[in-house]
Amino acid sequence: MTYERPNITRLTPYTPGEQPAGTPTDRSQPPIIKLNTNENPYPPAQPVLDAIRNVSPDALRRYPPPTASAFRQAAADAHNLTPDHIIATNGGDELLRLAITVYCEPRGTYNNTDSPPVGWDKRSASHQSQSPTPGAGIGITDPTYSLYEVLAAIHNTPITRMPLNDDFSIPDDYPDRLNAANARLALIVNPHAPSGRLQPINQLADFAQRFNGILLIDEAYTDFAESNALELLDPARNLTNVLLLRTLSKGYSLAGLRFGYGLAHPTIITTLNKAKDSYNTDALAQAAAVAALQSRDHAAKTWQAVTAERTRLTDRLTDLGHRVHPSQSNFLLTTPTTNAKTLYQNLKAANILVRYFDHPRLTDKLRITVGTPDENNQLLNALEKLQ
Ligand SMILES: *Cc1c(COP(=O)(O)O)cnc(C)c1O
Repeated sequence: MTYERPNITRLTPYTPGEQPAGTPTDRSQPPIIKLNTNENPYPPAQPVLDAIRNVSPDALRRYPPPTASAFRQAAADAHNLTPDHIIATNGGDELLRLAITVYCEPRGTYNNTDSPPVGWDKRSASHQSQSPTPGAGIGITDPTYSLYEVLAAIHNTPITRMPLNDDFSIPDDYPDRLNAANARLALIVNPHAPSGRLQPINQLADFAQRFNGILLIDEAYTDFAESNALELLDPARNLTNVLLLRTLSKGYSLAGLRFGYGLAHPTIITTLNKAKDSYNTDALAQAAAVAALQSRDHAAKTWQAVTAERTRLTDRLTDLGHRVHPSQSNFLLTTPTTNAKTLYQNLKAANILVRYFDHPRLTDKLRITVGTPDENNQLLNALEKLQ
């Protein structure tokens, strides 16, 4: 006998990219070239490390500021908004989970059973009959960041999938399809993962106008792109249903810190705040996150280095016969000339980790994180030999 909900029994959990044991300085292991989880290949800024070291014993003894007020001010300054447009979260992933739990209805699990559960009474029965609107779930594109589906399955909310066009652009009737399905939350990752494609801002604005729900634009990779969707929050546009996700994991080299944030109209932020954990980001992370945004110039140098290498790697892979999807991100989706899964395995045997997705539209492709010039050269050399 187990006690979890049936949707959890059925759940296929998220598969994270491999994180090899041992540190890069561990001489007993051969060095691993890690190009599989879209981490920034350069270290975070020195002021970030100093901020962590300088956290006082008192700041650890006490609970942290519940809404990360200093961080929200720093983010407001960085984005030319006010702090009431910002929510700090424990990684961008927490914002995704929060948005799903706040906006989407779980399917009633005992509507179909003959015997109501203990504690079932008329009051909850009538509440039950009014409350869950059938289908008030999430809308996602296919393919997309695979965590979205997992979070929706945990919440047991319906999922509406919109197949992307062959070039990974979004069909124009996406909002109509979602409205017809009564979806409450549409998730668009932009630049798109795993292709790296940047969707045009006019299309996103149009979707926000037409969609009867919250449009969450996941900008995890925005620091490597030539534009972002911040202008959708301009009060002149009057879009009160747009929520932008940002993270320090990629652009600021802080995936280990677990810090992300949302940007939206204050009505959305107030609603999300009602449902978040009281102390969802810790004192060390808050101190580091403030320093990170204040050292944006350091981070921006890493973005330049990565985007320059992205161009070079695209060219060199193309020379090797790959079809490389144009990317505005810190990774490339590429179709090699030989079997992608075998190539992934052979690269792994050569201590080079890239990502292979066992997903219908991606089985002939690899997703490769852009590394340092040296890492990219080692990848290119290995590919020359292997394929
Ligand atoms: C990395 C990533 C996130 C957020 O990651 P965190 O490390 O939790 O901040 C969100 N969406 C996509 C598509 C990502 O790749």
